[in-house]
Amino acid sequence: MHEIINPATEEVVATVPTATPEDVDAAVVRAARAQAGWAALAPGDRARQLRRFAAVVDSHLEELALLEVREAGHPVGNARWEAGNVRDLLDYAAGGVERLTGSQIPVAGGLNVTFHEPLGVIAVIAPWNFPMPIAAWGLAPALAAGNAVLLKPAETTPLTALRLAELALAAGLPEGLFQVLPGDGPVVGDALVEHPGIAKVVFTGSTAVGKQIMAKCAANVKRVTLELGGKNPNIVFADADLEQAAASAPGSFLDNTGQDCCARSRILVQRSVYDRFMELLEPAVKGFVVGDPTDPATQMGPLVSAAHRERVRSFVPESAPAAIRGDAPTGKGFWYPATVLEGSPDDRAAVEEVFGPVAVVLPFEDEADAVRIANATPYGLSGSIWTRDVGRAVRVSRGVAAGNLSVNSHSSVRYWTPFGGFKQSGLGRELGPDALAAFTETKNVFLST
Ligand code: NAD
Repeated sequence: MHEIINPATEEVVATVPTATPEDVDAAVVRAARAQAGWAALAPGDRARQLRRFAAVVDSHLEELALLEVREAGHPVGNARWEAGNVRDLLDYAAGGVERLTGSQIPVAGGLNVTFHEPLGVIAVIAPWNFPMPIAAWGLAPALAAGNAVLLKPAETTPLTALRLAELALAAGLPEGLFQVLPGDGPVVGDALVEHPGIAKVVFTGSTAVGKQIMAKCAANVKRVTLELGGKNPNIVFADADLEQAAASAPGSFLDNTGQDCCARSRILVQRSVYDRFMELLEPAVKGFVVGDPTDPATQMGPLVSAAHRERVRSFVPESAPAAIRGDAPTGKGFWYPATVLEGSPDDRAAVEEVFGPVAVVLPFEDEADAVRIANATPYGLSGSIWTRDVGRAVRVSRGVAAGNLSVNSHSSVRYWTPFGGFKQSGLGRELGPDALAAFTETKNVFLST
């Protein structure tokens, strides 16, 4: 049993039974049975059922959002967006079902055609930071491509996943096609990864666990997609609109209380405008509204757990006072204030993923220096570039080794554009027009004439 704690109040909001390895075995059998029938459906029928699932989610958006507020402490405005994102992902994937076509390739002496065939039963292992959307990044395209899905939510945040599985049944999806197995990563997650009946693992979480999963999948060449950590640069050049860059910087590392793989937690500022940027940044950080997640005006809630708060705290040395520090509620709840540090690229907080509301500001000299510092981590997930010079925007975008970059913006994720990491930030891509194909094998058939 896991007690689910509201991070803003420390109250127990639910008690959830944990699955066992035997439950995983039984779930794989049920899923395989359901998948055979699902894959055999005409594409239009599969699309229709997914659209119905999207419509049922749509009629439960507020309920799902409030569950996310209670189990993850997300501000309700953000949680509403997350619930809507699940609906949108299902709709978008449904639209892809009929367009998942093979090709006919000219050959001599016959006919050559390709097919996209579903893989079978997919394990989606999700983290706690965006429990709903990230589960749906795997779930929606995997189902659309004709697979079954077993979803393991994070220990602290299983409630929305469990509710989504109920809504799938209410929408008429076949029994067993989408099942949720809450429980501990090293037990339930590991049982899924090791299971011979699982064709592919989609893992979103820490780089350390991702490496273990990839090694285990190698044993029988199991397919794997990894969405891992990030330590993303926000590069501000002297020619940028400094007011806009400073005004938007807090959201880029404080949204979701910094528990965001795309958080721009390294702010690289060209030395000639460093002091001016810091003057502009301070009121923007202090103005970020922290507090009760159920209040629609709130921009930042608590961290997910007491243990995670301790980890975040360990990155901020008592001896080095923060350059900027916001407020946070006192009393119950896992609160931590917005914190901006000044330092060097080698500081622990500038190298490791903090996954909290902490950013480090680092000066740089010129374009080459900015790219060098931006790339000086094992990660390569996302980043922002602030400049008015189009040529520089293109050069730096090409120079920074990251999967998702934005110029004069911090947006990284849209369900219709590809998302994923370079280097140790991951393997493979999710979302975008190729999302369904990642849940298929391409089969080539030659017919001799
Ligand atoms: P985590 O690696 O601790 O756990 C992620 C999931 O894996 C959980 O469901 C957990 O129970 C499970 N797990 C843990 N050990 C396992 C094992 N041995 N075998 C199988 N499953 C196991 O990560 P977290 O703390 O939940 O999430 C935070 C991390 O996720 C951060 O590093 C963050 O950057 C990353 N993240 C990446 C993306 C992305 O798209 N790149 C998105 C969100 C979060």
